[in-house]
Amino acid sequence: MFPIGKIFQKINGSFEDILKLVKKITEYFLKLHWKSPRVVLSIVLACIFIFSGGYYLSQTTSAVNIIVNGQELGYVSSKSEAKKLVEEVLSAQAKDLEVEVQTEDEIIYKSIRVPKEEYQENLIQTSALLAAITPYIEGSGLKVNDKIIAVLPNDQAIEEVLSKFIEYQSKPSETNNVISTEIEEKVEKTKVKVNPQELKTIQETLDMLIQGDITVSDYRVEQDDSLWLIARKNNMLTDEILTANPNLSEDSILQLGQVIQLSRMEPFLTVISKGERVVSETIPFDVETKRDNSLGYGKSVVKQAGKDGEKEVTYSYVEENGKLLEKTVIQEKVTIEPVKQVVAEGPARPIAVAYSSSRGSGRVPGLIWPIKGRINSYYGYRNGEFHTGLDIDGDTGQPYVAAAPGKVIIAGWGGNYGYTILIDHGNGVTTRYAHSSKLAVYAGQQVDQGQVIGYVGSTGRSSGPHVHLEVMTNNKTLNPLNHL
Ligand SMILES: [Zn+2]
Repeated sequence: MFPIGKIFQKINGSFEDILKLVKKITEYFLKLHWKSPRVVLSIVLACIFIFSGGYYLSQTTSAVNIIVNGQELGYVSSKSEAKKLVEEVLSAQAKDLEVEVQTEDEIIYKSIRVPKEEYQENLIQTSALLAAITPYIEGSGLKVNDKIIAVLPNDQAIEEVLSKFIEYQSKPSETNNVISTEIEEKVEKTKVKVNPQELKTIQETLDMLIQGDITVSDYRVEQDDSLWLIARKNNMLTDEILTANPNLSEDSILQLGQVIQLSRMEPFLTVISKGERVVSETIPFDVETKRDNSLGYGKSVVKQAGKDGEKEVTYSYVEENGKLLEKTVIQEKVTIEPVKQVVAEGPARPIAVAYSSSRGSGRVPGLIWPIKGRINSYYGYRNGEFHTGLDIDGDTGQPYVAAAPGKVIIAGWGGNYGYTILIDHGNGVTTRYAHSSKLAVYAGQQVDQGQVIGYVGSTGRSSGPHVHLEVMTNNKTLNPLNHL
């Protein structure tokens, strides 16, 4: 047949286009003389033209082809429909966030007529559109020390994450008055274009900040290292080392110079908080011993049971991500007075005299710390057991010193105490240093304050190298922290 359809397709025709064409043809006829052969032929042609056009229109439909970056994806009925669909596909990527999803892809909406059948077969699929269009959003990047660690919908979201993280780390409460907080790292916000999939919610970012970043580093095994010691040196758990080194087990023998992996979570951000905290602390009761010669050798009777008191302590602190860096007691208020324990004691066995310490006023001289270190365990009740000393963290082999001048009365193995030293400072005051790896003094020796007397270890009942320091007057223990 006459290729009228092709002509129409070229016109790229909507119905209005065809009407325009018909009008033009009519105008042409009006200028001509009636009954001329030219006119008759023209009328016949026009009729064919119009009938074919009508037929064509009845067999085809107007459609809009969506072309993304030159790729034809299929049809929809109109341009507005096409735009709406693209809009929907883009905004569906925003998840539940209030962001505008955009694309830099070239999208062309091409109006055409297609046979109805073809139109039905090539209706556009949302999935095809999703796959073809690359969406992006302009978010706000959280930049820590010049590295973007997360992208959020906007600046306010970042502000919210940061304030929530600060609150998480500083934990303000009725008994914790946080005075100031500060993030140590350089934190910035920066505009950044990302795929909506990369966008993080406030909660996701907060969780990420709390969990920290995994960093892996090599560790070269040193003399006398054990998994436990390496873990302690690096502030990790043995299990964490084992997880990062599947070739190792708890019983593995480490070779000097062997390289193992240390992977750990490092915080992205460090919050330094300063404030004042109120805590309730136990005041351990004192024990007063009275000589009672009517009792037998070495016998003792409790005349009055002791009872711990309680005090409300206010201290100022500096914390780093919730870890105490500095602590200064500002105020102490006794809320419950302790009741001292009174013990009647018979005379000591004569044999014990040679080893027993002096007796006296019990006034404790100024003591110095045997080693500088973190306190692993305080004096007082600990899991239902009374801890009679102060555990000060140290490294195996690290020397420690006498807290005050005095005479060594015990230097040797002391069961649970491991290798232990007991120094008599006169006036009934003694100090004990337990769990040593090695001792540097002997019983009977006179020592000065600050003189090296032993080396840190983990002998006896101990879970790691530390100095267990006891301070006693007349053989009853005191809280060393009150005298250091
Ligand atoms: Zn201890």
